[in-house]
Amino acid sequence: MNCKQPKKSPLLEVCDLQTWFPIKRGIMARTVGYVRAVDIVSLHINRGETLGLVGESGCGKSTLGRTLLGLEKARRGKILFCGKNLLELNRRELREIRKSMQIIFQDPLTALNPKMNIIDIITEGLVEFRLIQGTREDHAKRLMNEVGLDEEAIYRYPHEFSGGQRQRINIARALSLRPDLIVCDEPVSALDVSVQAQVINLLMDLRDRYNLSYLFISHNLSVVSNIAHRMAVMYLGKIVEYGPTGDIIKNPMHPYTKALINAVPKPDSEEAKHKSKRIILNGEMPSPSTPPSGCTFHTRCMEAMNICREKAPQEVKSGKHGVWCHLY
Ligand code: SF4
Repeated sequence: MNCKQPKKSPLLEVCDLQTWFPIKRGIMARTVGYVRAVDIVSLHINRGETLGLVGESGCGKSTLGRTLLGLEKARRGKILFCGKNLLELNRRELREIRKSMQIIFQDPLTALNPKMNIIDIITEGLVEFRLIQGTREDHAKRLMNEVGLDEEAIYRYPHEFSGGQRQRINIARALSLRPDLIVCDEPVSALDVSVQAQVINLLMDLRDRYNLSYLFISHNLSVVSNIAHRMAVMYLGKIVEYGPTGDIIKNPMHPYTKALINAVPKPDSEEAKHKSKRIILNGEMPSPSTPPSGCTFHTRCMEAMNICREKAPQEVKSGKHGVWCHLY
């Protein structure tokens, strides 16, 4: 635990965050437009809490996670972590605070340097920040034990492990600096279904043991509903609905959330019950460089009205559940 902020305030608070990528054209590489990957997003994460971020591929959820860690440049907004706005810190201050924010990537193999052995991989951060007390071997063995791997394997290389074991190594590396927040970017989607539950259980155990906070990014709603306390649903760079996970699953309000929940495969008996209510999303997600006017979901929404094409909906809040839709 690195953050010493009072426990009552959120660990992370994001206000009106925008991450746009310029589209360059011509020999002068003139900027002719922007891909609005993250477009005015606000959210918060408390200590020990998991916020699930769901949406289709390309909706901007990974870009949002990467922006929080400074891996992408924010255009405007605020990222308050541990009470400090990360977008106003200098390089030295940022480097220091990054110890408390780590990431677990989707593909466990490409996230590991194949030329480095496990002891080097999982103690790299400790060496960088001069946090080794005792020997590197002791630290590496402790981390291997924490993620349920054989401590004697620290001199092996990534290709000698299975996919699930490699993701455990990534988790060990993320844990090494005792972070407060971990961005889990689709951490189980590249794994066999049989291994996914084990990795999710490990993440939940570690969260409870170390009071970690997670931003858990996934396109798989059933995975997120198992681990997240709260959920935010993202479409075309914007949050369209958020709230406690149970509320969202039982009582989704936004037509997009309803379609995502409806798309989760159900057992045959349940499937028969829900057949008449099946919601099919029309077409593809529009390009984030030319988002539709009004509600950006109107081109695919079965309940779209005239106002939806003209005016962007405002947030409607009921307790801890919020939605952006003209139906409410
Ligand atoms: Fe559908 Fe209109 Fe609601 Fe957008 S605002 S989700 S188009 S009903």
